[in-house]
Amino acid sequence: MSSAFNETILQTWAIHLSLLAFVAIALASRLGAAAVRLVPGFREAEVLNKETAKAKLAKPAYLENMMWNRKWHFVFTGVIFGIILPFCLTLEPDVWWMYPVQIVTILMVYDFFYYWTHRMLFHDTPGRVGPLKWMHATHHRQLNPCRMDSGYLNPLESAIGLGLYVLTIALLTLVFGRFHVGMIVVTWIAFQQINLHNHDLWDRDRFAGGYIATMAEMHHHHHSRFTGGNFATITLLYDWMFGTLDYGKGPGVKVSQEERLAKQSQAELPTEA
Ligand SMILES: [Zn+2]
Ligand SMILES: [Zn+2]
Repeated sequence: MSSAFNETILQTWAIHLSLLAFVAIALASRLGAAAVRLVPGFREAEVLNKETAKAKLAKPAYLENMMWNRKWHFVFTGVIFGIILPFCLTLEPDVWWMYPVQIVTILMVYDFFYYWTHRMLFHDTPGRVGPLKWMHATHHRQLNPCRMDSGYLNPLESAIGLGLYVLTIALLTLVFGRFHVGMIVVTWIAFQQINLHNHDLWDRDRFAGGYIATMAEMHHHHHSRFTGGNFATITLLYDWMFGTLDYGKGPGVKVSQEERLAKQSQAELPTEA
């Protein structure tokens, strides 16, 4: 094959850029985790979440779900980085102000798709059973999740969540053109870390308060009953806009905020798995 032909293929199916993004995400995530560990409150939160995860992993059913997800994660990662992202990436620079616009657009368009999928398909709506409630029920077995429970799922749910995310990137490529590799690295890490953090056991008096604590608390309210609100994942904007903010009050709450904080070992709190 001629080098011109090879070059055309690499410009269209830019697998080298996709691999670059994959490696950069892995490295930046590790460096970021090491940097966060330097902050005492965050380090304590990590210990609490890791200890809780360890206790949960001692339960065979829990471990089995994690192993099942790990297997499928390899497949989903292969499809995303091997087939979809190579058509969405470039190293061509853009004007500087385009980068923040793209980051916010990718995350907020995804969150809009996720909000409605979560609300309409995964949960019941008045007078109607959520068609994918049976699948989402796996994730909701964790009434008081820890960080690792972000991945306690039916793998089909994982496919839907990741699918919505890459579909958002692919659709927005039609609007913005191909995204710079750096943009995909930044938004991927944000998407991943926000999802993980929403499940963090987080005591605002011990670790850090404000927005960071609120995001984790609000998702814990969502887990504490199956029919509450807080359906979005990146921010609570859509829950605020569409009237589904849930502060964990009222009937159906299985683990209250007070109960959560009263326990030292969070693994003692009830789960159904
Ligand atoms: Zn849910
Ligand atoms: Zn969750």
